Amino acid sequence: MTLERTFLMIKPDGVSRGLVGEIVQRIEQKGYRIAAMKMMTIGPDMARDHYAEHRTKPFFGDLVSFITSGPVVAMVIEGERAVDGIRAMMGRTEPKDSPPGTIRGDLAVNLSRNVVHGSDSQESAKREISLFFHEGEQNDNTRADHAWLYPIQKKKDR
Ligand code: UDP
Ligand code: MG
Repeated sequence: MTLERTFLMIKPDGVSRGLVGEIVQRIEQKGYRIAAMKMMTIGPDMARDHYAEHRTKPFFGDLVSFITSGPVVAMVIEGERAVDGIRAMMGRTEPKDSPPGTIRGDLAVNLSRNVVHGSDSQESAKREISLFFHEGEQNDNTRADHAWLYPIQKKKDR
């Protein structure tokens, strides 16, 4: 079993609306380890880099000005299948299509103010983590409940 790392960001709407604690609590209670976390304001160059895949879309300009409009909380999250797991916890891009129980389903109503960003693949995760964090900013600590989250497989002959 290998632990995967993904990038999760609470966007300026989530920070301004006081949702940081709620979102961090969901991640911790799920059993993921927060390997890095910082509050920061993104500059326009970094925002355009982060959202490069959307540069030709009509919403790109608004997205860049929104994401740079106030502080975000950037995180590296680690766990078994964390990339897909965090996307599942987020819900769909459109909050109206996101089921209750998901972050966007519970905490957002509008597509352009959907509270969180999460990497959509392992490749995106690697790229986004290295855009936001130096290697030295990522912690290799172990959760105290690690053995409960990931029980060691017993040998078949025992
Ligand atoms: N977005 C938008 N208008 C659109 C599509 C997307 O404002 O028509 C914003 C939305 O906030 C979304 C972000 O652009 O979270 C990135 O879009 P993507 O398709 O990558 O969605 P995500 O990966 O965040 O679910
Ligand atoms: Mg995306």
